[in-house]
Amino acid sequence: SKSDGRNQFCFFEAKMQETFLENFLIENQLRSALTNNEFYLLYQPVIGTLNGKITGVEALIRFDVEGISQRPDIFIPIAEKSRLIIEIGRWVITEAVKQLSYWQKIQGSTLTMSINLSSIQLTDEGLIESIESTLIKHGVDASQIEFELTETALLVEQENTTKMIQSISDLGCKLSLDDFGTGFSSISHLHRFPINTVKVDKSLMPSALPKENTKPFLAGLVVMIQSLELGIIAEGIETEIDLNLCIELGVNKMQGYYFDKPLTVHELESRYL
Ligand code: C2E
Ligand code: CA
Ligand code: CA
Repeated sequence: SKSDGRNQFCFFEAKMQETFLENFLIENQLRSALTNNEFYLLYQPVIGTLNGKITGVEALIRFDVEGISQRPDIFIPIAEKSRLIIEIGRWVITEAVKQLSYWQKIQGSTLTMSINLSSIQLTDEGLIESIESTLIKHGVDASQIEFELTETALLVEQENTTKMIQSISDLGCKLSLDDFGTGFSSISHLHRFPINTVKVDKSLMPSALPKENTKPFLAGLVVMIQSLELGIIAEGIETEIDLNLCIELGVNKMQGYYFDKPLTVHELESRYL
């Protein structure tokens, strides 16, 4: 009826306003976290399949509001829309490189540092120079840093994006393709960009799809990635079943709650260094 339609309209309008206000609130929280230096990084171990030892860590950003840790899958898209991600992303790079430098100098560690890079950051003209100067300042070798890009970043088929990705590779940093196997996965991306490693998405692990037989699909992906001579990291290893499948398929490295969740510097040091 007519009145139902009207109610629905109000509902949508209210919903939209709510989201708008929510995003506005989060954007302000992000600005204030930047100003007050309230972001911090957690580090999730990446484990070598052959010996079960840590080979590196992935840096994952956090900040707290009233003691509650905020979820990056909520605030990163808002940081991207507002382009705050450029400044936040630069902070992440500096902090992660500083931390790796400390671990190398004090603990003699040879870990690799993986850093997530948003597609928006690839439009930052000063990105390459800032990465290079950060590495020099902290005495970290470019080859110890791996930048993780999602396919959305590669889909933005702009000349600049392609140039940026090439420049990161020319610096000597490694590149990995994150969340592979979801969305717009395409083999052509693996050919066209200087990618070293593919991170197979956690949604493809048996524990994420307990009712399906994920093995043939995963096996096919692994063979395809290996035939391109790329490294493979499996994400979202939560169970022994996930673990054993990765070992069987010859996945190089693994990451997931089965080993550890993202850890504070202190937790990582006491468990792994
Ligand atoms: P991602 O890059 O795919 O990171 C992996 C996410 O999976 C992390 O969530 C991690 O905590 C979670 N995870 C790890 N092991 C398991 C597991 O065994 N099972 C399950 N279900 N999840 C697992 P987190 O830290 O909440 O980050 C979410 C996303 O936010 C990241 O996904 C990444 O896209 C983005 N993000 C996080 N930090 C940054 C950053 O510094 N910069 C940018 N641009 N994006 C970031
Ligand atoms: Ca990642
Ligand atoms: Ca991922």
